[in-house]
Amino acid sequence: MTTQQALEIIKAPEHVKAARFDVAIVTPKKKLIDVKDISFDAAVAIVVDVMNNCNDEFLLDQLSSHLKSFGFMGYGGNGYDININAYVSREILKEKHTCGRRMDSQQNKDEWRKVGNDICCNYCGSASWETFMTAVDNVIARKEGWGIEYVASKGYKFYITNPTVPNAGFGAIKFYTHHLPTLSEDEMKAVDKKINEAMKISNENFQAKLKNMQL
Ligand SMILES: [Zn+2]
Repeated sequence: MTTQQALEIIKAPEHVKAARFDVAIVTPKKKLIDVKDISFDAAVAIVVDVMNNCNDEFLLDQLSSHLKSFGFMGYGGNGYDININAYVSREILKEKHTCGRRMDSQQNKDEWRKVGNDICCNYCGSASWETFMTAVDNVIARKEGWGIEYVASKGYKFYITNPTVPNAGFGAIKFYTHHLPTLSEDEMKAVDKKINEAMKISNENFQAKLKNMQL
């Protein structure tokens, strides 16, 4: 397998090529690789090298599958531990807050974490209000691939779809309403209207996608 062949299987979009990677490949016989925070190119090179020097059919099969979902797959069992995990850089911000999910009375202990372009609560994982409203604005501006969805069964949760955030390792994927700021009645009305419009557009996009899939 050449690097070029591997890249053709991986077909990584730009945001994955720009991500950082942890690669761990352990077999029942030995730990082959366990590296963290390396580039996409380095991660591909390592996996290609392991595949080219491998006479373990099971491991080869596993790694071939991992190429098809490069950065988003893991396997554990029978003495194997294979993990190729992609994520973006993250940073803890100085400003503290009190997450509404907190059950104790501690104040201003919770941190905000910058994950890629998003700000998330380090306690509950929710997007910050600003990050959520950016998603809402992008949906309303009909930017490709953006969506929000209200989880009615939960009553306090929205899912965020961002075309460059395939999972929480890349940014915010949800918003909890306990991160709503204090708003005046008029502000709340305006926000409510915006969110409803974004949900309507997201739903239309989803229905259109379904229809396309059925054709
Ligand atoms: Zn929180």
